[in-house]
Amino acid sequence: MTCSLVPSFLGSSIDDDREFTMGDYEGAVARWCTGCGDHAIYTAVKRLLEAEQLPPEQTVFVSGIGCSSRFPHYFTTYGFHSLHGRALPTATGIKLRRPDLHVFVATGDGDCCSIGAGHWVHATRYNPNMVVLMLDNGVYGLTKNQTSPTSPLGFPSNTQPSGAVLNPLNPLTGTLGISNVSFVAQTADWIPDHLYETISAGFHHKGFAFIRILQRCPQYTSKIFEEAVRDPSQTELLVHPDGIKIDNIKDLYKKHLYHDPSSLVEAHRMAADPARLLLGLYYRNESMPVLEEVRDVPRRSVEEKIDLLNTELDRYAV
Ligand code: SF4
Repeated sequence: MTCSLVPSFLGSSIDDDREFTMGDYEGAVARWCTGCGDHAIYTAVKRLLEAEQLPPEQTVFVSGIGCSSRFPHYFTTYGFHSLHGRALPTATGIKLRRPDLHVFVATGDGDCCSIGAGHWVHATRYNPNMVVLMLDNGVYGLTKNQTSPTSPLGFPSNTQPSGAVLNPLNPLTGTLGISNVSFVAQTADWIPDHLYETISAGFHHKGFAFIRILQRCPQYTSKIFEEAVRDPSQTELLVHPDGIKIDNIKDLYKKHLYHDPSSLVEAHRMAADPARLLLGLYYRNESMPVLEEVRDVPRRSVEEKIDLLNTELDRYAV
């Protein structure tokens, strides 16, 4: 587990008149493959950071393991590249101790829906205030092409060369079925304005904003979104005054479906339909209790924390 990402602002005094550009948030050079959808998602997140003028020292990116989990390295904010499947409990701990921080989680279909599935269920139920970007490319890409929980039926991989034998897990219905769910949306890496507006809506939601991002992996799953990318008529946009803004894309993506995101039953019904590609806000409920507001975590000074740590370490003195 690494927490070694050193923000560039450390060691310098903080000027309250700072103005941040997208470039100010750029950390290491992104090492994803050429054409990988992660690049577009990275750009959309940088747009949001600039638009909201989030101070780097007040912002944290947390990840597990996978291609998407390289996110924290590419920002000048704080970052925590944790263990496989453990991004959500790590982020929840950060939020409990420091509710003032802006917390973003980058996780993948394997990281979130397989090894991290238990944490996915409970983090949704805990409802901490954070944005969860679930980058779904339908494959384990970092480890070079194994079947993931969301691989399409029949998709051949190194672990199932004759094709995936089970229907894929549905991250939308899965999240919508968990108690206290408060925000579920779906977007795609190849529609930059929709991607940005969805992440922005998640950021402004008070609670656990779960955003499934359909993400192209040209290396291993180049076919699964190919037709949708080429033909906008295959995509339907969920529209509602309380939903995702579509002003810049409504002429290209002409199929619109009116959906009230306060209806959990309707959200379930739409998310369960495998024949339709529906992008937008499925569900939002801001009345759900937020973890860091209902859990009474004592606030301690730095000196108190050091004292407690020393007391704990003294227990192991020999
Ligand atoms: Fe992106 Fe796939 Fe390459 Fe990973 S393997 S960086 S998901 S294109």
